[in-house]
Amino acid sequence: MRALDAALGFIAEASRITALTGAGISTESGIPDFRGPQGVWTRDPEAAKLVTLSAYVSDPAVRRQAWRSRGEHPAWTARPNAGHEALVRLDRAGKMVAVVTQNIDGLHQKAGHDPARVVEVHGTLFEVECLSCYERTTMRAALDRVEAGEEDPACLACGGILKSATISFGQQLDRAVLLRAMTLASESDLLLAVGTSLQVHPVAGLVDIAYDVGARVVIVNAEPTPYDGLAVALLREPIGEVLPALVADL
Ligand code: NAD
Repeated sequence: MRALDAALGFIAEASRITALTGAGISTESGIPDFRGPQGVWTRDPEAAKLVTLSAYVSDPAVRRQAWRSRGEHPAWTARPNAGHEALVRLDRAGKMVAVVTQNIDGLHQKAGHDPARVVEVHGTLFEVECLSCYERTTMRAALDRVEAGEEDPACLACGGILKSATISFGQQLDRAVLLRAMTLASESDLLLAVGTSLQVHPVAGLVDIAYDVGARVVIVNAEPTPYDGLAVALLREPIGEVLPALVADL
């Protein structure tokens, strides 16, 4: 049986789907992933420094570069694609418990997904957080200061280093957010991993959690992942084609 037909059957039988999404669901919206063939790090391994906490904290040049790149991030203008919209449809059909996303681009919410059922385990580009006092403000306000000439704007409350409210390498995930994602995975009957290389832990471990409670694992990703062996269906075609096909009959 074709993998798509098998996956359609599994979706039809499921009622508590958790989608675990990664950068690959947004490439068709014009936001490059990190590790795919056209990925940011595949093309420029040095770019990983911008999202490494120790380099960001210790090197003002890295912070200045990070602030410039935040203003130019394609997420500011990107539109959701057919993949994001298909997950909204799955949700509205009453089949989903949540989307757990590693993405920071807000495109699930822009597509119309109920924000209460979108868990952003790696944070959001649209807020900034002080690394000292944890004060949160909007990214827009911080970028206004950058555009007004501050190359590395400091926290207005305490003078500490500001960073996008995203999880960098070397930075702990928010425990409450991670716990929520783990609970959702453990309550699922189907884990739909979409556009993620499943190389980043602890998020990739959500697949183990779902599998261990008996959920089926369906993976939609162009390239192999370390979790392919657990999957009951593997779909390698473009996400913007596969996800609409999976929800077409709902
Ligand atoms: P990743 O870059 O490690 O993997 C993305 C995977 O998606 C790759 O295996 C690639 O082959 C696949 N892919 C890309 N486009 C596809 C398509 N159209 N159809 C099918 N498969 C496709 O991404 P990750 O696992 O999410 O880990 C990277 C980390 O960086 C995460 O924390 C992620 O949130 C973050 N990130 C986020 C964004 C964003 O918010 N859009 C962009 C880049 C990186």
